[in-house]
Amino acid sequence: MKFQNRSQIEALTKFKGQGDLVTSFYLDTDKSRLSRKEIQLAMKNLLSEAKTRACALKASKDKIDSLLGDIDLIAGHGAQTLGPANAAGLAFFSHSRKQFWHALELPHGPRNRVIFDTNFYIRPLAAILEKYSPICALVISRREARWYEIAMNEIRPLDELESDVPGRVREGGFEGTAAKRIERRIDAHLQDHFKRTAQRTFDLSKKHPFDWLFVGCENDHCPDFEPHLHAYLRDRLKARLKSRVGDPPAKVLQEALEAEAKLKRAEEKETVGKLVAELERGGLAASGLRDTIHRLNQFEVQSLVVTHNFSKPGRICPTHRIYYLDELKCPVCDKKTEIVQDIVDEAIETVLKRGGTVKHVTPPSKLDRYGGIGAFLKYKA
Ligand SMILES: [Zn+2]
Repeated sequence: MKFQNRSQIEALTKFKGQGDLVTSFYLDTDKSRLSRKEIQLAMKNLLSEAKTRACALKASKDKIDSLLGDIDLIAGHGAQTLGPANAAGLAFFSHSRKQFWHALELPHGPRNRVIFDTNFYIRPLAAILEKYSPICALVISRREARWYEIAMNEIRPLDELESDVPGRVREGGFEGTAAKRIERRIDAHLQDHFKRTAQRTFDLSKKHPFDWLFVGCENDHCPDFEPHLHAYLRDRLKARLKSRVGDPPAKVLQEALEAEAKLKRAEEKETVGKLVAELERGGLAASGLRDTIHRLNQFEVQSLVVTHNFSKPGRICPTHRIYYLDELKCPVCDKKTEIVQDIVDEAIETVLKRGGTVKHVTPPSKLDRYGGIGAFLKYKA
């Protein structure tokens, strides 16, 4: 099943293992970046590491057997799915003892991981939802308007409208002033059509909220149409499309996705640029994993900027919940620290929990030169 909306996350959240352990599995299967062999190898390693970890758990034999059952199911299902699937990521959720199984195809490659817990690990799904801004694509001709909703690389028609606008006056068909009068009347019809279209767009935005609006108008009419839009929508107007009313949805989708990717790249570049500028002037920013984690421990991080899928193991003091890259003993309480599989992921979760924001940056970027991770810091009280 394709991962498409929040309700799928909610369904997984509702599932309760009732004390049992359940397995969440995520695999990056983005064939634009990885070869089939690399994906298969990553899956094999991930599952063999998970098996070792499951066997070493301090849990009853029943619970561990259930986890081993999950791993077998994932291996079997993965072998079947990897070949034909074109999704950029796969997620499996399994509780073999209760015969619960749920598979999702993801539009974006997640970090590879296997998590055992009493409930399903859904944060990567939430992160994917956040990554995709819902888009409304609107294509307008002189008589028609069509709205599409684009979410997570999928398109669906939202609405359409037809106005009674007469065709253009053919040259030489009318004499002088009569032709001008008719042109003006047609112009009034067209303005009316644009006005209705703008109003309908506003109504739709309340029913199906979107972050970005992309508009395509026939005959270069965009400058005539756009002033009719509500100021709220003009703020969201981010791209003009070449697509036309008669184009198949797949074509509108392709053009919209290209525009979306371009906007996202620009957004990321701006974020990294701001961070670098702040770092260079010695302002409220940190870079590199060590300093970023240190600032996080000090409750100084406002916003985390992290290279997509950047991952590193680390350690945590179980008493203080302080993160370390490599301290075997907590320097504060002298207790033995515990291993965390991915300190970057822990940092992301901590920032979100404290109400901060996290921006993901697609590599390669300027952030690579700053250790792949950084943060905007809070003003000190
Ligand atoms: Zn401690």
